[in-house]
Amino acid sequence: MGKVTGFKEFERKTAPYRDVTERLKDYGEIYTAHDEAQLNTQGARCMDCGIPFCQSNDGCPVDNLIPEWNDLVYNNRWQDANERLHSTNNFPEFTGRVCPAPCEGACVLGVIEPAVTIKNIECAIVDRAFDEGWITAKKSASRSGKKVAIVGSGPAGLAAAEQLNEAGHDVTVYERADRIGGLLMYGIPNMKLEKAVIDRRVDLMREAGIQFEVNADVGNNVDVKEVMTNNDALLLATGATTPRDLAVEGRDLNGVHFAMEYLTANTKSLLDSNLADGNYISAKDKNVVVIGGGDTGTDCIGTALRHGCKSVVNFELMPTPPAERAENNPWPAWPHIYRVDYGHAEAEKVQGEDPRTYCKLSKNFSDDGNGNVKSVTSVEVEWEADEETGRWNMKEIAGSEKVWPADLVLLAMGFLGPEHYISEALGVDTDDRSNYKAEYGNYATSVKGVFTAGDCRRGQSLVVWGINEGRGAAEVIDGYLKS
Ligand SMILES: Cc1cc2nc3c(=O)[nH]c(=O)nc-3n(C[C@H](O)[C@H](O)[C@H](O)COP(=O)(O)OP(=O)(O)OC[C@H]3O[C@@H](n4cnc5c(N)ncnc54)[C@H](O)[C@@H]3O)c2cc1C
Ligand code: SF4
Repeated sequence: MGKVTGFKEFERKTAPYRDVTERLKDYGEIYTAHDEAQLNTQGARCMDCGIPFCQSNDGCPVDNLIPEWNDLVYNNRWQDANERLHSTNNFPEFTGRVCPAPCEGACVLGVIEPAVTIKNIECAIVDRAFDEGWITAKKSASRSGKKVAIVGSGPAGLAAAEQLNEAGHDVTVYERADRIGGLLMYGIPNMKLEKAVIDRRVDLMREAGIQFEVNADVGNNVDVKEVMTNNDALLLATGATTPRDLAVEGRDLNGVHFAMEYLTANTKSLLDSNLADGNYISAKDKNVVVIGGGDTGTDCIGTALRHGCKSVVNFELMPTPPAERAENNPWPAWPHIYRVDYGHAEAEKVQGEDPRTYCKLSKNFSDDGNGNVKSVTSVEVEWEADEETGRWNMKEIAGSEKVWPADLVLLAMGFLGPEHYISEALGVDTDDRSNYKAEYGNYATSVKGVFTAGDCRRGQSLVVWGINEGRGAAEVIDGYLKS
């Protein structure tokens, strides 16, 4: 374990983000350099508590061996810590940056004291390992002669590709975008995950023998039947890319966009030309209304502020979460509490207040007379639990309408599931939520030789769950190829 009395001696200290005013001037990562002496002390807070909930059940979805590497960091054995970390997680440099850290919500110390800073330690281990050159291409000693095609290059597809290649199979990853990474590349903005971090890992995977095909839209410009014929197994890891729309009056006005149209174009233009090509939706000098919260909403806020928006407001349909865990949300479950993410802190600094406004339902968008959005009308709602079913019902509050000036409206209300052209071409069954149908842990679809993992199977989720499912599917596919 860390230091026997560490949790009594040391307070939790998380690594600070860069100063808000400074970081708003660029699209660089919000993080500061790792302070290894501080992390060493933070590692010492781990109690090695016997049953480490952090690494199982409600904690880390990839079962990271957290107490082990906390102890190794405390004892300055960073290279050993890196080996333990990579034994369960293909891409800790992604999760160490963007994971919401359910592990910390499940930390046993968290029952009585603030949890161990697990995510900071994870990120520091892998970043140091890259700096030291300890991370190299994972080549396989022998080849099986079997071929696997993976459609989609998000965390699920990439994790599966690395595992299958290491098992000796020939892997080709098809990606319809022009860059590899899925939502790591074109969803999550640079501020949270610089794209060089993805490219560095993909380069190692290429060196290990994995083939990557970009601009390859399987089911459109790449024939899915041919892909099936030329491979021994096919994994669908296409993500949950169908956005939830808002069917209200004025939805078709200019200036109303899905969040992903805004975020994707911004990152592409940034990477292609440092925004010089102008191929993005600018929020400069605009009143921006972001409808919907979560990571996507926050990323829209952070991006709009960097564009130099006039104002930004964020509608949340649900009530303000509590400051502390509610009674029906006990440890070690993920704490549903009020959090201030990077974009909220930035908006507060610029505008003097948190951009979020709760219990707001968007009723309509109004026209400036030239087909452009001019404002959004919201109405307040209240939530009441049904006494019999316990389900929450929403009720509009009469007379609570409010008109918000808006030149740009971004719809960040989540995703409905995967697109279906590839599943239909293959005859893959879908479940009642429109995801590709396969059991968790089995990953086999209704079509022999076709497997599925990640958001297209489980619905919109997290990077760490993508890695979990990619690894799980690789194990099943490996068994299938050997049978
Ligand atoms: C804006 C935003 C911010 C987020 N922030 C976070 C965060 O901070 N932390 C976190 O843990 N999670 C976050 N998430 C969620 C996380 O990114 C996803 O859960 C995760 O990326 C899902 O991984 P995946 O591999 O299943 O699919 P994806 O990452 O969606 O990748 C699927 C890929 O498949 C490709 N594809 C689809 N169909 C085809 C086809 N027919 N042919 C070829 N390619 C195809 C797509 O182009 C895409 O690149 C965020 C999501 C969004 C939208
Ligand atoms: S991957 Fe996420 S849940 Fe797992 S240890 Fe890292 S931060 Fe925690």
